[in-house]
Amino acid sequence: MKVTEHLDKANQTLISFEILPPLKGQGVQSIFDAIDPLMEFNPPFIDVTYHREEFVYKNKSGGLLEKQIVRKRPGTVGICAAIMNKYQVDAVPHIICGGFSREETENALIDLDFLGIDNVLLLRGDPIKSEGIFIPEKNGHVYAIDLLKQVTNMNNGVFLDEELPSTVKTNFCIGVAGYPEKHFEAPNFKMDLNHLKNKVESGAEYIVTQMFFDNSKYFEFVKRCREIGIEVPIIPGLKPITSLKQITSIPRTFHVDLPDDLVDNLSACKTNEDAKQAGIEWAIHQSKELINANVPCLHFYTMSRSGPVKKIVENLF
Ligand code: FAD
Repeated sequence: MKVTEHLDKANQTLISFEILPPLKGQGVQSIFDAIDPLMEFNPPFIDVTYHREEFVYKNKSGGLLEKQIVRKRPGTVGICAAIMNKYQVDAVPHIICGGFSREETENALIDLDFLGIDNVLLLRGDPIKSEGIFIPEKNGHVYAIDLLKQVTNMNNGVFLDEELPSTVKTNFCIGVAGYPEKHFEAPNFKMDLNHLKNKVESGAEYIVTQMFFDNSKYFEFVKRCREIGIEVPIIPGLKPITSLKQITSIPRTFHVDLPDDLVDNLSACKTNEDAKQAGIEWAIHQSKELINANVPCLHFYTMSRSGPVKKIVENLF
């Protein structure tokens, strides 16, 4: 079933989760171990992130370094199929522009269609760590909207080879990302929102936000989206802080601010366990306010660790 159908038929705020594929070498059981404790909350869908290749340098004899390409977390499509098979819950694979040519994207989408996966979250992807700026693949997409247009084409039966005889239309429900605190590369909020509006006008049916820790940023974002005619559901993305070092690593990695009160609470913590508890309490407070505002769904970034998210959701209803 499509994410939008789940949202349409819900009569209260839904709870959904994002998980990461396991590190290469780990089995699928590690994913099931992360999902099992959360199944009591009846997630209508579970997102699975996509992780592109990275470059690493390995020491070779004679003091030489060899550049190698590694993909640390492969398996997004397989995990989606495993989730649907084991839990009968819809899986939402993240599909990114980075590292894919248009042909490779088309073939991946054909696989998803054959597996009965109806949902995709379409993203540009971040730059490779060592490259600094996003460099598209040769014959790949530059922005998420370009990828989105390829998927909407396939939903209309238009494949890259337009001469294919009698194609079958795919039926993907398309989600995209939105940024309550602006995407870090956008020159200003207005332009970022206009790009988001273009994604919606090109076929995106819902938006999932980047994590935020100050609900007023989400409420303002939704207001500004509505003012410029973005009418699709906007699902808030939430991540509990789980360690002391995240006070600095989260703003640096995700380009989001932590509010004063949260930083004060965390700064008073002596151990990671204390910080985790403070993060859980903050996320409970955020979630309750969002539920009272009738958001369609709370989408938790679990980082494939169920413990903190379970404690939060247990306190919500
Ligand atoms: P885009 O929509 O392409 O926007 C990127 C930037 O370009 C923005 O600044 C935008 O304003 C600007 N822009 C957009 N269109 C145009 C245009 N036509 N002309 C000029 N400028 C334009 N990354 C992963 O690698 N794997 C994941 O699984 C993953 N999951 C995510 C899930 C969520 C909910 C979110 C919020 C992010 C996720 N990301 C993931 C991170 C995401 O890939 C990065 O934030 C990336 O930098 C931007 O992706 P996007 O789809 O928002 O890009």
